[in-house]
Amino acid sequence: MKRILQFFLHLIWIVFLTIVTQIGGVVWLISLLIGRFWKKEIRYKKALLFTGLYLISTLVIVPLIAPIFGRMSVQHTHKIRPTNYATVLLNRNYVKPLLNQVLQKTAQSLKDTPIEIRYLDANFPFIDEFPLLPHLSHDDGEKIDISLVYQDTSGKMTNRKKSISGYGSFVPIKKGEIDQTARCKKAGYFQYDCTKYATFGSINQDLILSEKYTKQLILAFLKNKEVGKIFLEPHLKSRMQLNSSRIRFHGCRSVRHDDHIHVQL
Ligand SMILES: [Zn+2]
Repeated sequence: MKRILQFFLHLIWIVFLTIVTQIGGVVWLISLLIGRFWKKEIRYKKALLFTGLYLISTLVIVPLIAPIFGRMSVQHTHKIRPTNYATVLLNRNYVKPLLNQVLQKTAQSLKDTPIEIRYLDANFPFIDEFPLLPHLSHDDGEKIDISLVYQDTSGKMTNRKKSISGYGSFVPIKKGEIDQTARCKKAGYFQYDCTKYATFGSINQDLILSEKYTKQLILAFLKNKEVGKIFLEPHLKSRMQLNSSRIRFHGCRSVRHDDHIHVQL
């Protein structure tokens, strides 16, 4: 009985690691295997083996072999960085080379501005159609989420963000604007604002959206003809007077996009 329970606990853990990091489940299995053959008794042996192997895989091995499978990690520069480094540690920072080029070109076109591109979830390193949950469409190396740009109470632009994860801090609707969240929830899509539970903590609550610089960031992405679509909440699209047909509404099945921008090839 104990063995069966142990087996199921391992299974749940492996599924969890795979969903969150893609490679974690396999790394866990390999570390169990090594632990079995390596007889030396050490305290927390399993956990230490797994952590060591996972970090080596994530920081060294996967970045080297992902290009063989057509993806690479997002190239960091002083203008391109993750909003939270956990994105990198969880292998959620992989894109096709073309999307990396788009990011570099966009950063280049923003070189005379204070705007930095802070990215959120992109894709996993391997296997097309392996979704990066909860984003069902981030499964082909062609999608990346980007943080909005904010300003402080004095009106000065900042590259700080409003939540630890980068998700879940929404831009309130102003009077007269389309309340897409209310519409979607009324239609029964209760998941529409579920990212409010994914902030991992709210920070910098004094910041507000910088319409000027967020618009500039979106226009910089749109300069690339390789960008096929950008998802943005309707009230922000109209507030910032963005009228490109490539800026779309993502549909009620998705989640609200007024805490980040979704860019895809
Ligand atoms: Zn997205």
